Amino acid sequence: MSALDDRIELARLVPPSELDELVTSITTALGGELAIFDCRGHRLAGSAAVSVARGSGDASRVVALHGDPLAMIGATGANALASLALCGEALDLVVHHAYARELAATTHEEAMRVTFAELTEHNARLSRAVARLEELDRLKSNFLATMSHELRTPLTSVIGYAEMMAEGLAGPVSVDQREYLTTILGKADQLLGLITAVLDVSSLESGQLTLERATLSLADLVASELATFAPQAGRRGIAIQLDACSDTVVVGDRRKLRQIVSSLVSNAVKFTPDRGRVGVALRRGPLAVHEPGRDDATPAIQLIVSDSGIGISRDQVAKIFEPFFQVDSSSTRAFGGTGLGLTLAKAYVEAHGGRIWVDTQPGQGSTFTATFPARPGEEPS
Ligand code: ADP
Repeated sequence: MSALDDRIELARLVPPSELDELVTSITTALGGELAIFDCRGHRLAGSAAVSVARGSGDASRVVALHGDPLAMIGATGANALASLALCGEALDLVVHHAYARELAATTHEEAMRVTFAELTEHNARLSRAVARLEELDRLKSNFLATMSHELRTPLTSVIGYAEMMAEGLAGPVSVDQREYLTTILGKADQLLGLITAVLDVSSLESGQLTLERATLSLADLVASELATFAPQAGRRGIAIQLDACSDTVVVGDRRKLRQIVSSLVSNAVKFTPDRGRVGVALRRGPLAVHEPGRDDATPAIQLIVSDSGIGISRDQVAKIFEPFFQVDSSSTRAFGGTGLGLTLAKAYVEAHGGRIWVDTQPGQGSTFTATFPARPGEEPS
């Protein structure tokens, strides 16, 4: 490529129509003939009668950009020198302006190219990080599932043998021994519940949640579950009221539905002060309300568990359904628990095609509503 080829071309910088306009406006004002040539002598605009060849007799002038000749202007007529001066000044301006514009566009293009390269690199790093996290998440779920299984097997034997001893199968049991055995069984049951919850959460995470469907009355199921809470709540002066509508039949998994009721009621009792109020209601209504953009008028049975307890602040509400989340997770916290109950309850409700939400305010109590689609063909009365 010659040095001339490396130069900036006038024809590339300024469109011919602009050069034509410039020539026309000057010749209209000053008369005579005018033409613009590139640095190789090719005419780009103006009269064919004008020449910049040496010895032609026409007046001419060179226009340069950064010291390099870029264009030549030729003129004839009485005002040839004035035309040359005017055209030279104007072309100078136009050329510098066009050059600045091209420089800015090139710089912008370069900046975009660098940004795009950086983004591509960031994307690749993010993809690698996501793949690593997914792998770690899978390992964690596997670990939880294996550990829970390995812990549950020996614990089931501990419970079985303790029960046999309590029944006197290994010989007579004194009053004190029976009391100790009862405590062992209670704590072992608690531990079994915890391990089962961890196992359930890990099977949720690996997408292995399956339902054993049966047609059952929610009112009967809730009543029998509430009976197990009555002694514990009664000791704290909390009477649990049940208010059920007439037909509460749903198709669902008995064990998982019991667990949903148990999680909501045990939380209501746990987070309500002595002599507080806990109410459980079964009503017919829509599947989802008060959920912006997610309202759903599908006929449903609503399980409503309300309490007069400590309530939950607005910023914590969004997190309470996350695994292991507890509003107070300090080692000195006043309430026991694992932070898994609501995670499982939400997953089980949604597996039944239902929704779960909470209306609550700190110090004003909480109302949890879980909904289940009514049996097909049934409308809320
Ligand atoms: P936990 O085993 O801690 O009860 P959950 O998943 O059932 O776990 O609940 C998560 C957290 O949500 C609880 O630790 C508590 O902070 C809050 N929470 C749940 N139910 C209630 C309620 N009825 N009143 C106040 N806080 C509640």
